[in-house]
Amino acid sequence: MRRIQTSVIVVGGGPVGLGLAASLGKAGIPCVVLEPRNEPAPIPKGQNLTARSVEHFYYWGCADELRAANLLPAEFPIGGITAYENLAGPYWYAPAGRETVGDFYFQRHQRLPQYQTESVLRARVRSLEPVTALFGWSATRVRLSDDGVRVTAVREPGGERCEVEGAYVVGCDGARSMVREQAGIPGGGTDFNQRMVLAVFRSSDLSARLERFPPRTTYRVLHPELEGYWRFFGRVHPAETWFFHAPVPEDTTAATLDAHALVERATGFPTACEFEHVGFWDLRVNVAGSYQRGRAFIAGDAAHSHPPYGGYGLNTGLEDAVNLGWKLAAVLRGWGGPALLDSYTAERRPVFVGTGQAITDGIADDRAFLARYSPQRDRAEFEHAWSGLTAGETAPPSYEPHYEGSPIVWGPPDAACGVRGKHTFEARAGHHLAPTPLSSGRDVFEELGPGYTLVALTEDRQPGTAFQAAAEELGLPLRVVTDTFDEPRTAYKHRLILVRPDQYVAWTGDDAPASALGVLHRVAGNLAADALPGHPAG
Ligand SMILES: Cc1cc2nc3c(=O)[nH]c(=O)nc-3n(C[C@H](O)[C@H](O)[C@H](O)COP(=O)(O)OP(=O)(O)OC[C@H]3O[C@@H](n4cnc5c(N)ncnc54)[C@H](O)[C@@H]3O)c2cc1C
Repeated sequence: MRRIQTSVIVVGGGPVGLGLAASLGKAGIPCVVLEPRNEPAPIPKGQNLTARSVEHFYYWGCADELRAANLLPAEFPIGGITAYENLAGPYWYAPAGRETVGDFYFQRHQRLPQYQTESVLRARVRSLEPVTALFGWSATRVRLSDDGVRVTAVREPGGERCEVEGAYVVGCDGARSMVREQAGIPGGGTDFNQRMVLAVFRSSDLSARLERFPPRTTYRVLHPELEGYWRFFGRVHPAETWFFHAPVPEDTTAATLDAHALVERATGFPTACEFEHVGFWDLRVNVAGSYQRGRAFIAGDAAHSHPPYGGYGLNTGLEDAVNLGWKLAAVLRGWGGPALLDSYTAERRPVFVGTGQAITDGIADDRAFLARYSPQRDRAEFEHAWSGLTAGETAPPSYEPHYEGSPIVWGPPDAACGVRGKHTFEARAGHHLAPTPLSSGRDVFEELGPGYTLVALTEDRQPGTAFQAAAEELGLPLRVVTDTFDEPRTAYKHRLILVRPDQYVAWTGDDAPASALGVLHRVAGNLAADALPGHPAG
């Protein structure tokens, strides 16, 4: 039997596993990816990549390749139409989408089928020397010990076996995660008892019929009979290919479903279509009790899943990969402290819980609205309420995942990690750093290092020198970027900003802290050091 030694074993080479491998590979950490599929699954789910997710591709070194893999023209507006009852009716609006927060990120959001995204990542990990990508291989058994992990894998067809040994295993193996189960990590969640159909079809006339709307990529139909669930169309290819999902009765099968009738119920007009795929899945919110047990971690759908409403699932999974990737690299390099790996669950789980709750609340709100208002019962009252919905959708988005309460950031006292917040250019501990131009003309995001970066907007060299000396003492990688505290950088409101490897702010100040060592001890996961004399909070 073939034996492979590595540092991290990544089980599952879907987008999250590949993203984790890219993070580890870029950090120079040897890893093995096990993935049964020789090619990505040809289902165009997971299409909506946020601007934040595209930042990951930038740091993985494949953002240009991602944009090139887009099937829609670059200028095609991403965003949706919400319609009442069907796409032919008088009631619809075009809510503001993710473009409203675009200025707070260094990259623009993208829309492309998940198989295209996975192809870009497959090519990228294949080019990274520390990554061994074993496509065609399934993990069958995971054994954990205090010293390391062993994963047995099988190649199909043929049944060839191999054993991979490493320091850590990460299950990125999807909602039915074998790693989660074998590591004994409890799942849990809410089953909506709602079966959904997912169809991919070609239609040459649907685009033409939708020209009455401003150009958009998605169309969400609300109907009282759906009780808050949606009938949903997404463009895959601008001219012809669509994907569609909708709730169906629990006992529906491919043999009993009239997919064409369901599509026409949602459009409200005759729609010629040629189906390429029809499948089903069950709507539920699931989240594991912890994302770690000993040397085993889980990420992406293996750790959590929720209805695809709003397009969060893949984006949340990619952020898991980045968050865990730099922490594993730090511990394997020797500068990450004992609390660093624990902070993965502490930071990422509340973000998922908040996201799942927002989706569940949205379904309940739509259900209540559709039960309460009806143009057939009272047209004037319905129209008034509908226009109120439209106005509500243009309010500033309050979805802003952050780690304010994380044990490894210097956030405000009593803060908690979560998703409710606001986008701002102010640099705040626990929040994503907003991009800003430096006086060199380059953006600060182009200067951030692979480790920590101290952005020092001051002529005083002392804080940078103190942080650099402390970083050397801890063996921690730190880059210092200096500039003046002039417009537009004054929007950061702080002269000293310590940025983590994942572009989140760990600490801010205006003067050198009493102990740069104390600041770095905590952000690197050495929490006991908080008690050190000269600790900045002390
Ligand atoms: C209809 C629909 C629309 C969606 N739209 C969006 C959207 O717009 N935006 C968004 O962010 N998300 C969206 N999502 C969610 C998104 O598709 C998922 O969150 C995403 O696929 C999760 O990626 P993953 O890598 O965690 O898991 P998966 O994509 O499930 O990948 C898991 C991988 O693990 C492999 N694997 C399984 N078992 C083993 C084993 N034993 N050994 C080795 N490998 C194994 C599998 O082959 C697979 O490749 C949508 C989902 C659906 C259903």
